Amino acid sequence: MPVEEISLTASFKIDLTDADEAAISEIHRLFAEYRKIVNELIEYAHSHRTTSFTSLHYAKYYELRQRYPTLPSHYIDTACRHAASIYKSFLELKKLGMCEREKPIFKGRTIWLDNHLFKLDVEGWRASIAVHGGGWVTLRLLHGRYHDKFKDMKLGEAQLVLRDDGNLYLNVAFRRAVALPEVGADAKVIAVDVNENAIVYGNDDFIERFETDEGIIRTRYFLKRRQIQSRIRGRGLRARLLGKYRGREWRRIREIYYRAAKGIINKAREVGAAVIVMEDLEVYKEDKDSKELNGRIHRWSYRRFQQILEYQARLHGLDVKYVDPAYTSSVCPVCGGGLDLSPNGRRLKRCQRCGLEEDRDVIAVKNLTKRYYEECMDAKTP
Ligand SMILES: [Zn+2]
Repeated sequence: MPVEEISLTASFKIDLTDADEAAISEIHRLFAEYRKIVNELIEYAHSHRTTSFTSLHYAKYYELRQRYPTLPSHYIDTACRHAASIYKSFLELKKLGMCEREKPIFKGRTIWLDNHLFKLDVEGWRASIAVHGGGWVTLRLLHGRYHDKFKDMKLGEAQLVLRDDGNLYLNVAFRRAVALPEVGADAKVIAVDVNENAIVYGNDDFIERFETDEGIIRTRYFLKRRQIQSRIRGRGLRARLLGKYRGREWRRIREIYYRAAKGIINKAREVGAAVIVMEDLEVYKEDKDSKELNGRIHRWSYRRFQQILEYQARLHGLDVKYVDPAYTSSVCPVCGGGLDLSPNGRRLKRCQRCGLEEDRDVIAVKNLTKRYYEECMDAKTP
């Protein structure tokens, strides 16, 4: 059986009432310096137009080591990775017009920790964080509700997070190997198609829709942002408000995506499907610079949905396959004939050859299902 490693994150709240003042001030000093370092690295990334960890590390590591001699050196490693990742997602959003700022600003609410920078004692509910001068600060963890399922898992990396309300959390990634079933042409599948306002999934036996209303949500936020752009004069305030609404919009859509993914996985278990089939969006990469912005934003969030569903699916022992989506909306899933728009409804399509009349989302799902089995066959014949 193929084995795949998945990771799960546990969030522990830190009991600040248990920590003494010296420990708390060490942690705050850490946040302040880490923030300065990451922002300096972002500055470098921006002026050199680089998103590469290696070039950031190469250019800045020794200089930063000398300027912060008492800070454990691994913080500079994680800061380089953190800055590269922030700058990379900034450029991605900028390209989609989803960012107002010239360059990203790191607010310093999160510190990335590798396994040299923290120790975890789950049984004793304590975590130690490496601080200046080679010391450690030990903090008491408040019991999380997740702890049982992490017991047999390997410890990964962690993040120290300072929330707006002043609470401190330690988010720890745990890893576990999961065995995936051997899948092939005899596996039962669920194909998933995502359009602007719904996620449609199923196979030849059933089709279900999950209304996301994503297009409606996006339009509403678009209008809200236009209002801010025309009414707010101060540039700083305008950027802050726009950023706030961007964040809200994405959090809302993401929450819907999680619910949809959960529904699809429950359905897969109910019908005994072993594979989730989705479109391979890489195919569209060539036209990623196209002027058609809505299409690009749709594909960006479609990809985010795929990542969420893929992760959840693997967690539940399902396999995920991406198939070539070419012609899945223009060819009849029954006879392979060309499709026309049906005169009987806006979303209906009709086959010129066999007369099949079906909703376009249903056609896409049936074609993706069919494509999966075709690709399984192609893989067998050399
Ligand atoms: Zn047909």
